Amino acid sequence: MAMVDSTVMRSVLEHLWDSYPSICRHWFNDIEAVDMDGGTIRFLVHEPVQLRYLQRSCTEPFTDATQSATGRLLGVEFITPDQLSSIPKDEVVSGATSRASIDLDGEMLLSPDYSFDSFVVGPDNRLAHAAALAVAQQPGRAYNPFFVHGGVGLGKTHLLQAICQQAMRNDPGMRIYYTSCNAFMNQFLDAVQGGEMNSFRHRFRNYDLLVVDDIHDLSNRGPSQEEFFHTFNTLYQGGRQVVLSSDAPPNEIPDLEERLTSRFGCGLVANIERPCYETRVAIVKSKAALRSLQLPDDVAGYIAARIDTNIREIEGAITKIQTVAMLDGAEVDLAMTKRAIGEQFRSNGSTQLTIQDILDTVSGYYGLKLTELLSKRRHKSVSLPRQIGMYLARKHTRFSLGEIGGYFGGRDHTTVMHAIKSIDGKRTGDDRLDQDIAQLESVLLEQS
Ligand code: ADP
Ligand code: MG
Repeated sequence: MAMVDSTVMRSVLEHLWDSYPSICRHWFNDIEAVDMDGGTIRFLVHEPVQLRYLQRSCTEPFTDATQSATGRLLGVEFITPDQLSSIPKDEVVSGATSRASIDLDGEMLLSPDYSFDSFVVGPDNRLAHAAALAVAQQPGRAYNPFFVHGGVGLGKTHLLQAICQQAMRNDPGMRIYYTSCNAFMNQFLDAVQGGEMNSFRHRFRNYDLLVVDDIHDLSNRGPSQEEFFHTFNTLYQGGRQVVLSSDAPPNEIPDLEERLTSRFGCGLVANIERPCYETRVAIVKSKAALRSLQLPDDVAGYIAARIDTNIREIEGAITKIQTVAMLDGAEVDLAMTKRAIGEQFRSNGSTQLTIQDILDTVSGYYGLKLTELLSKRRHKSVSLPRQIGMYLARKHTRFSLGEIGGYFGGRDHTTVMHAIKSIDGKRTGDDRLDQDIAQLESVLLEQS
């Protein structure tokens, strides 16, 4: 094994940041290059999740960068130090030999971006974060099951993946299964059809940590709930850790069997709230830091003020800013930021309404508490304002039906669709309702 001259690694990185900024992450600086003989350059990475990310998304860019840095036609492989030391030199085979014992269904691979390091802790998620950390340190012993719930884009998936990555780091031999609820169910149905139920069950019995994202999707899966119940029980009784996320607390997931509701709630249930401004500023900075992008405070503040409901938009905004900064060859400042992302907030006429504006205005107008508006209560005094809120959100923001449902207490897109149709229909025949909505719209438009 030969170390590769460090200038080669430096120019590989430069080439990557210049030509492929969107895949680059700050931890690329920790990658080492080894072994250039035999037409292949091997890149040593320290985390299995980073390894998978590189193998999945970065082989071509690295090949390109390596060839332009060395002027030679080299192949690239990504490996962990573990692989390098435990396998005799000339047997280092393709990077696909990761032996970390994490099982992932095809779609739901872990992202190295979703680690505890990059998760911002604020008053809105403190409990969920602390519990997640405890679960990662002491799986099966701290809180079991650990159930985290909250609206769309508030960091549930991030936290779940952070648990997996941390647990894997603490104990590389741990058997971990991370999946979405739907993927789990589909596997189960495949097993039923293929007559392979025994091996399906046997497989799940052997995990130390089972993490199922978006467990609320169990609602519409009548018969499959039964199977999940058994899998859950087997693991739970064996002292294995189960971690679940959902858009609603266990007792508010519609059509969930009572026995599942009570199982899900018997460990720790933690809520993630919408992040406050300070938390959002910190998240913006954390996302930028992942891409080695330094943002001045006024820029981070500008982004955080405009993206207040769906944190997912932050990533898109940062990519745009990064691209403009590259093209300009200049440091990021406020003027550049406005140029890069100002459009994004003007695309809907001249309004910049957020769903939070709508929630606040509607609850204020009807004298309701926000929690009432978002609750499961179906009394007309609450359900009508709620439907009006969804209707206004659809009309005056760019959010999808599913996202709107998420903000309105974790409802699904069909509920939102129904609300919009219903208000549309009533508005024509009901003058009082029509006036209320017109009044609400004028209040909202003043705000924007
Ligand atoms: P959810 O699963 O709750 O819908 P995600 O976990 O997908 O939400 O989060 C959406 C985006 O917001 C991700 O890019 C995630 O990294 C980011 N995010 C949310 N909360 C935080 C946080 N507290 N710190 C850092 N990033 C966060
Ligand atoms: Mg999610």
